[in-house]
Formats: sequence, structure tokens, C-alpha cells
Amino acid sequence: MSGIASAQILCNCLALAETEEGRDLRGMTATLDVTACVIGAGPVGATLAATLAAAGLPTAVVDRAPLPPMELPEFDGRAYAIALTSQRLLDAAGIWQRLPAAPQPIHRIRVADGRPGARPSSLKLDFDSAEVGQGEPFGWMVEARSLRVALNACLPTLPNLTAFAPAEATVTRHPEGAEIRVAGGPHGKMQGETLIRARLVVGAEGRESPLRRQAGIAVTRWDYGQVGMVGAFAHERPHGGTALEMFLPNGPFAQLPLAGPGGFGTADLPHASAYVWSERTALARRFLAMDDARFGHELARRLGDHLGRIRPIGRRWSYPLSALWAQRFTDTRLALVGDAAHGIHPIAGQGLNLGFRDVAALAEAVIAAANAGEDPGGAPVLARYQARARPDAMLMLGATHVLEKLFGNDVGPVRLARRIGIAAVDRIPPLKRAFAERAMGMRPGLGGLLGGQRLA
Ligand SMILES: Cc1cc2nc3c(=O)[nH]c(=O)nc-3n(C[C@H](O)[C@H](O)[C@H](O)COP(=O)(O)OP(=O)(O)OC[C@H]3O[C@@H](n4cnc5c(N)ncnc54)[C@H](O)[C@@H]3O)c2cc1C
Repeated sequence: MSGIASAQILCNCLALAETEEGRDLRGMTATLDVTACVIGAGPVGATLAATLAAAGLPTAVVDRAPLPPMELPEFDGRAYAIALTSQRLLDAAGIWQRLPAAPQPIHRIRVADGRPGARPSSLKLDFDSAEVGQGEPFGWMVEARSLRVALNACLPTLPNLTAFAPAEATVTRHPEGAEIRVAGGPHGKMQGETLIRARLVVGAEGRESPLRRQAGIAVTRWDYGQVGMVGAFAHERPHGGTALEMFLPNGPFAQLPLAGPGGFGTADLPHASAYVWSERTALARRFLAMDDARFGHELARRLGDHLGRIRPIGRRWSYPLSALWAQRFTDTRLALVGDAAHGIHPIAGQGLNLGFRDVAALAEAVIAAANAGEDPGGAPVLARYQARARPDAMLMLGATHVLEKLFGNDVGPVRLARRIGIAAVDRIPPLKRAFAERAMGMRPGLGGLLGGQRLA
């Protein structure tokens, strides 16, 4: 690759100039040797870095954005649905315990077909976690800011982890290893440059991953022609830990229970839920331009009246919806994780959970290799990661794609067929159970980090 020569020259220069403390006095370049350097400290990259460091592997993580300001001081309306297996991963990395507020367990999921302003079809599908797991919920609703607070609280406690943020990274990779030049010292102290020597570089910079581009990995994108509107609303009646997934003609609408009462609501509307509302782009623009009262009215037309009166709270967020698929998840000394490798429709709330499954697959492969004295960034380890993560991601991408096409269709016979299909699944316990376990992230023989095991 083109960066090999420049990386070797860079290494030689640094070797000549280094002092005993690992610092180049002439150029003020510190050096750091790590097993893995993760570029991007979003939820996926930061969790991977914490998982590797917690297992005792020297790890660096670099983000171009400063970490503390990601901890938005107030509720901002965004929340993630974290599946049971993702919760276990976050727990093993020491992140879950640092959530500043108790997350809301999801005990029940109702799936129905509907139309704005009309009652949902009576042919519905009701999942109850009591019928599936051993008393565990399907997952939890965690505010985005809470997860960020927990990640930021966890990273500095790990002795094997060095975080650089805000900092720009320049990466060169070659078959023997990778060098990452970081402008800006650890924890945002601007004190010159650091040269990180890593066995493995991880691209966790989200959908527009520069490392993916640098490696020449092609991507396929699908534009859904929809906008995902995300936010929260206060409501009169308790949600009882129930999430609602409503399939509407222009796209899915989800209501997801938030913790409370007390955290968000007001005296008259003491409970709160998040919404993820996918709508055709032109219509979404009209809704987003509405004032809170009119927007709340449109929300209520889709939600129905089971939660009583509602009022939007926090900010409204919107995202153009597209799917993204990287042709490879690996290259020389490089692994892609999270949205850098795949992006899916939020119809099933599984995007971040899929990224956490990449974290488990990569961390387990790297930790096992390091323990066995194998090169943790070598081609066999990367091949094992890709062989596990890619089919899993492809299955989820395919499933969300089919769901979106099947349920975003308002043709009469198709609508009737899917209503009957929903009701049929509700009446076939083994099939229903299989769907429910999938929502939890469970599958037969699941072990390792997603099975609640701690690795060292
Ligand atoms: C409407 C909507 C609703 C969703 N709801 C859910 C849900 O309920 N549950 C769920 O599981 N998923 C959900 N998702 C998906 C989820 O938001 C993403 O999958 C998740 O944020 C991906 O995390 P990530 O860490 O891979 O990437 P990102 O969150 O994009 O983080 C990337 C990080 O890399 C940094 N970075 C970027 N470029 C560089 C660079 N050059 N150098 C250094 N750092 C860099 C950025 O600053 C950032 O910190 C939803 C998505 C949408 C659009």
C-alpha cells in the first residue's frame, strides 16, 4: 500500500530521535505502543476500546471531537434501545454500571399495522418478556446523553487505555503494523504530537469513515427516501414498560418507554416516551416545520390514545434514512466496526446493537489471539472477525430492508396479508419466541461477551 514507505521512514526518524522517556525532544513527539488503536470514540468505538483495555490489552482511542461536550447537560430527546446482549457487553466493559440514571426496561413489545388517525388493526402481535427470558427484559431504553456520560466516566479509569480527544489522526498501515500520528496530547492536552504504534487499527468513525475510504473499500448505499424524526413526548398515562411498533403507510412509527416518572414529565403529564417516526422526506419536512402543538397533534394521530394526552418535550432530531454496506470489513491491519461497516434502517432499532455485536466479535478474536501469543492484528484474526461479523450484519441489513419494503406498502392485498401474518405469528408460540429472542439479540449457543462472560 502507498503509505508503507512513508510509514517506515517516519519510524526510522523517530527511532533515531527518541529519548529514554519515549519523547522526541526536538519535535516533541511521544511514542506509544498499543495492541489496538481505535479511531472514533462514538458508542461503538469507545465500547470496543474499553472492552480491550478491560481485558488488559494496551489500547488507544482517538476522536476528532472533544469528549466532554458530547455529554449534553440536558435531556435532548434522543435515546437508544439497547438489547439484552448489548447490555451484557456494556456491563463487562464497566460502562453499564456508570449510567447516571436507571434505564427503562422494555418488558413488552406490541407490533401493529395502522393508519394515521385510525385505531391500530386488531390483528396485532404482543411480545411479553416474561414468556421468553429468565425474568430479563427485552432490552432497555437509554438516553444518548446517559450512555455518553457513562462512556466518558469509564475511559479514564482504565489503566491500559489512552484517549486522545479532540485530536486528528493520520494513519499509515503496512503488513508489519500500523503507525498513527496524533496531533494533540492525551485527554485533549495540546502538547505536540504522539506516534502510536499499533498491531491493529480500527475504523469506528461512523458512516463516512475516512479509514474505509483510505483502504479503498467500496460501499453500497440505498436511499429510503424517508427522514427519521426522533424525539420524546410527555404523556398522561403510564407506559408500563411497553414499546409500540406501528407500521404506517409512509414508514414505521415507534414509541419507546423512557424512565420515570419524575425525570421528564410535568405534573399533568408525568410519564415520558421516545418516538422514532419514519416519514417520506417531503412530508417529514412539513412536520418538522410545525410548532409543538401541531407536531404533537400529528404524533398523537399515529400513536393512538392509549397513553392519554401527550406533549412533545426536548429537541426534535431528524436524519435522512439510508442503508450502507461496506464490501469488506477488513484490510491490512484494519477492521471496520459499527456504522463505518454497515448502516441500517431504524425500523427495528438495531443499528447500535449491531455495532455492539461487531465489538464482541472483534474483541473476542483479538483477546484470544493475544492470549495465545498470536499476532492480534494479523490476517487470520481479521479473517475470523469478518467471518463472524459480516453474515450477522448482512442478515440484519436484509431483514430490516425486507421489513421496510413489506410494511411501507399500502397496497390493499399486501396490507391484508401482513395483518394476517402478524396475527398468525402471535398464535404460533415457537415462531413468536424466535422473533422475541432475536429482539433480545439472543441465539442458540450464544456465549462470550454477549452471553455475559468477562474476558481477560
Ligand atoms: C433515526 C435513528 C434512530 C436510531 N435509533 C436506534 C436505536 O434505538 N437503537 C440502536 O441500536 N440504534 C439506533 N440507531 C443507530 C445508531 O444511532 C447508530 O448505529 C450508532 O450511532 C453508530 O455508532 P458508531 O459509534 O458506529 O458511529 P457514530 O455514532 O457515528 O460515532 C462516530 C464517532 O467517530 C468520530 N469521528 C468521525 N470522523 C473521525 C475522524 N476522522 N477521526 C476521529 N474521529 C472521528 C465522531 O466524532 C464520533 O464520535 C438509530 C439511527 C437513526 C438514524
